Amino acid sequence: MKEQKYPLSWKKDDFSIKIFCSIPNIATGIFLKSGKTNFVIDPGDGILRDLNTKIGTKQILGISDIFVTHGHHDHIGGVWSLLTYLRVMRKGSPLTIHHPKGCVEIESILNAFERVYAKSISYELTLRSIDETTSFTQNNVLIKPFRVVHKEFLSDGSKREVPALGYNFSYKDKTICYGGDTAYCDELVNHARNADLAIIEAGHEDDEPDDMHMTLKEAKSIGESAKQYFLVHVPE
Ligand SMILES: [Zn+2]
Ligand SMILES: [Zn+2]
Repeated sequence: MKEQKYPLSWKKDDFSIKIFCSIPNIATGIFLKSGKTNFVIDPGDGILRDLNTKIGTKQILGISDIFVTHGHHDHIGGVWSLLTYLRVMRKGSPLTIHHPKGCVEIESILNAFERVYAKSISYELTLRSIDETTSFTQNNVLIKPFRVVHKEFLSDGSKREVPALGYNFSYKDKTICYGGDTAYCDELVNHARNADLAIIEAGHEDDEPDDMHMTLKEAKSIGESAKQYFLVHVPE
């Protein structure tokens, strides 16, 4: 597979998404805009740098929500610097971070952040634990989280499942499906079908399917059920 050329961008009228990067074990960073609403999805390492270069401070201060698919470092490694930047730049509007129930990484980062900066956070910061039963509308965007299947290795070489969600974002009559990191699963198959854009990971190293990431073949078969798709998280 040839290297992905980041950023990957998609836009229909005033609904757009920019994937700054998505490299397994390194970083992911996604910016979604619908009308005047700014969301960040999976703020991995480098998210602040990329947001600064591509959208600028004023738009960064307008970010209302962050959506986390799971707690792996390549998806949340940039949270601390983004939250601190918002504090330094005196963001005034509230910020909500949505994350899968049981995601201890994001909860720990937020606990530490609030402890360190208790007296100087200029904005209302809310951590919201969600699951696949929690569909909601935020600033005219309908958000549908769905359960995906993702694992990590323990020190003895065995694997454990991590709390992981994909998200469908619908605005006006368009839907973007982002599966996050996942093995092939029916939930993703169902949510990607007929989406206007599907963002599908193909993070598995070889062609044998497993329960952590998808092979290129699996990812493509899901992508092709959408009107348009990007393959992301492809090992470099
Ligand atoms: Zn990842
Ligand atoms: Zn992961």
